[in-house]
Amino acid sequence: MAHRLVAGKLKAGEVAVDATAGNGHDTLLLAGIVGGEGLVFAFDVQACALAATGKRLMEQGLDKVVSFCQRGHENLAEVVPECHHGRVSTVMFNLGYLPGGDKSRITREETTLSAVGQALAMLKAGGLCTVVCYPGHPGGAQEAGAVSRFIEALDPDGYRVERHEGENRLNDPPFLLAIEKLSSG
Ligand code: SAH
Repeated sequence: MAHRLVAGKLKAGEVAVDATAGNGHDTLLLAGIVGGEGLVFAFDVQACALAATGKRLMEQGLDKVVSFCQRGHENLAEVVPECHHGRVSTVMFNLGYLPGGDKSRITREETTLSAVGQALAMLKAGGLCTVVCYPGHPGGAQEAGAVSRFIEALDPDGYRVERHEGENRLNDPPFLLAIEKLSSG
């Protein structure tokens, strides 16, 4: 669903951010759309995640489109050069742990909230931020709840927020928060 929304919004030549690169599926989507004229910043705190992402992108000849940042996404505003602030078209978050990796290296409430706030500030008018939340793992429900409350409280004149969730899934299924920054925001 996040991929569908991003594909409907992001255009060639634009600037995008993958705030949780992981195995690189989201980075690949973003880089494939923005192409050689665009730019993607891919963040992850784990070297193995960025290596997996780099390999995936290289296989598709898209690694040159990506700036790989081994920093926490809570440093977003510091790492992404100021010339892009207010011009970013799409930011994607996929929270939780790296599939097939170290389950203790999860995203955390405090840094996630800081990063989402910075991401929204960095979006251009009409830009999109997607956040996939996973309430199922230890600590995940707390983080997902905090992110939901933060996003629900956004000024409706500045942001349009949608929540997407499977209706027939059991056991704390993941849900997607999609935030569009409105022109007046
Ligand atoms: N989008 C990925 C899955 C992401 S899993 C995919 O498509 O495969 C979540 C990732 O967030 C993990 O790789 C983890 O290392 C990373 N992470 C955890 N804390 C982080 C932080 N503070 N900043 C950036 N990435 C972080």
